[in-house]
Amino acid sequence: MLRSALIALSQNKNLRQFAENSSMGRRMSSRFVAGMSVDEALAVCERMNREGTAVTLDALGESVATEAEARRSAEVYHRLLDAIRARGLKANVSVKLSQMGMDFDPVLAERVVGEMVEHAAKVDSFVRIDMEGSPYTEATIAMTERLQAKGDGKARVGTVLQAYLYRTAGDAERLLRQGIRIRLCKGAYMESAEIAFPAKADVDANYGTLAERMMTSGVFCGMATHDEAIVERLVAFVRERGVSREAFEFQMLYGIRRDLQRRLVREGFGVRVYVPFGPEWYPYFMRRLAERPANVLFLVKNFFKN
Ligand SMILES: Cc1cc2nc3c(=O)[nH]c(=O)nc-3n(C[C@H](O)[C@H](O)[C@H](O)COP(=O)(O)OP(=O)(O)OC[C@H]3O[C@@H](n4cnc5c(N)ncnc54)[C@H](O)[C@@H]3O)c2cc1C
Repeated sequence: MLRSALIALSQNKNLRQFAENSSMGRRMSSRFVAGMSVDEALAVCERMNREGTAVTLDALGESVATEAEARRSAEVYHRLLDAIRARGLKANVSVKLSQMGMDFDPVLAERVVGEMVEHAAKVDSFVRIDMEGSPYTEATIAMTERLQAKGDGKARVGTVLQAYLYRTAGDAERLLRQGIRIRLCKGAYMESAEIAFPAKADVDANYGTLAERMMTSGVFCGMATHDEAIVERLVAFVRERGVSREAFEFQMLYGIRRDLQRRLVREGFGVRVYVPFGPEWYPYFMRRLAERPANVLFLVKNFFKN
């Protein structure tokens, strides 16, 4: 119930405006958000690279309402791609379609993301299109396919599939057939039992099956989870089946299970950390609280300690 309440609050505009503009809110967000500016995010990226992890940078924002806003959001990504090249960072970018105008002009969103993918190709980087709630699923997959087909044949764009959706096994086969890189996650939105597994045990089981399929598909995929039981299962699978460590990477979120990230690096696995930053942090932050309601208690305790 707390999860549903926190996800519902993540869409509350008044609370969002209040939180993003208060110094207390910004202080709390630092648990999961790597700063407010491009420079701060790049500094975190450099540190992560030194520690052996690759990065994907997310300039936070979603649900923009005008072309000017979509273009402003895209501009930050173009700066990031140039900086990744100029500083020789082991990094790529993650973007949300609702941040690029998808809600009011899907053609614009495709043009804006297409320009980003072309830029990524020029600087030898990659654009990951994050997956939002189920109204976006088909459109996100279809756009990724069109953008990949337009490109230079190299992997320049990929997307995310969510293990909680029943449709994901089919979507995985569809993308793998086209050589499109997938990030596999469990899924962070509120979905009905008509389209998504309601029980966590079923989501976890589906995740394991999908992950093993992707790791042996010949397409480089990202296993995005902090679930240690799943990580152990995948590590055992890799050893038993002799899967190359170059065939996939683990992905985790900034500020979550740093111990597990470090351990996997030490064991020679590829690890990429999702580094979100920017003043529009509220919906992202609330989804992180929803994933682990104990975080709310943790934040409250720390707030009173300060
Ligand atoms: C790199 C990356 C990219 C993602 N991209 C997307 C996306 O595009 N679309 C989408 O819908 N979802 C995305 N997600 C979120 C994902 O769907 C899950 O909601 C989230 O990762 C929690 O699931 P889990 O696999 O970690 O397992 P869970 O079973 O939720 O958690 C396992 C353990 O991980 C730790 N943990 C998990 N979440 C938290 C947290 N918030 N705070 C503290 N500890 C935590 C806890 O120790 C927990 O016991 C992404 C996740 C990652 C790691």
